[in-house]
Amino acid sequence: MKKRQYNSKIQKASLEIDLFGNEHENFTRNLENLMMTIQESFCSNLRCPTRVKESQQRTININPPHEIPHRDLIQLAVDELFCSKLELCEEYGCDGWREFSQRVFCHGPPPFVILNMQQWKSEELAYVPYYLGLSDHKYLLEGATLFNKEEHHYSAAFQIDGYWMHYDGLRNVNLILLNKPPEFLLLSSLVYVRAAEK
Ligand SMILES: [Zn+2]
Repeated sequence: MKKRQYNSKIQKASLEIDLFGNEHENFTRNLENLMMTIQESFCSNLRCPTRVKESQQRTININPPHEIPHRDLIQLAVDELFCSKLELCEEYGCDGWREFSQRVFCHGPPPFVILNMQQWKSEELAYVPYYLGLSDHKYLLEGATLFNKEEHHYSAAFQIDGYWMHYDGLRNVNLILLNKPPEFLLLSSLVYVRAAEK
């Protein structure tokens, strides 16, 4: 097969994701400013040492839910990160309640999102959703970065014209067609691209 550069659909937004030869760190670091989110929180206790807080995140780190619900785990974890919530304040000596606002994107909903999946166990990833609802937009699965523990090495899987391809820079035949979606046993990140507006 002729090796050719993979150009994502998000080129339309004057951006290009290059999944070839990227290690996870380089891959996300160049793009993370676009994915920056902010969440404010406010403690109910007048004597709280830090009543108002702002939490900025440059990467979208989602954690596996504590209970196993019937719903899609990844969507649930994304919802949990972005939704408003009320929690006990964690400031030392404070017994107030801390109210968190909705988490929002600092620069508006980005044309793509990269979910950091390193906290997830392989069995929790049996079902990777093709669609993700985020910040009132629909995102479509574009690809994934995979980590090989033994070789300490990253590779990428992505869909192109409806087929799954796997790219591994260490192999002689480094681009292969997968007959079915890859098993994300060592998933590092998921890449979703914003669907076109209706
Ligand atoms: Zn407090």
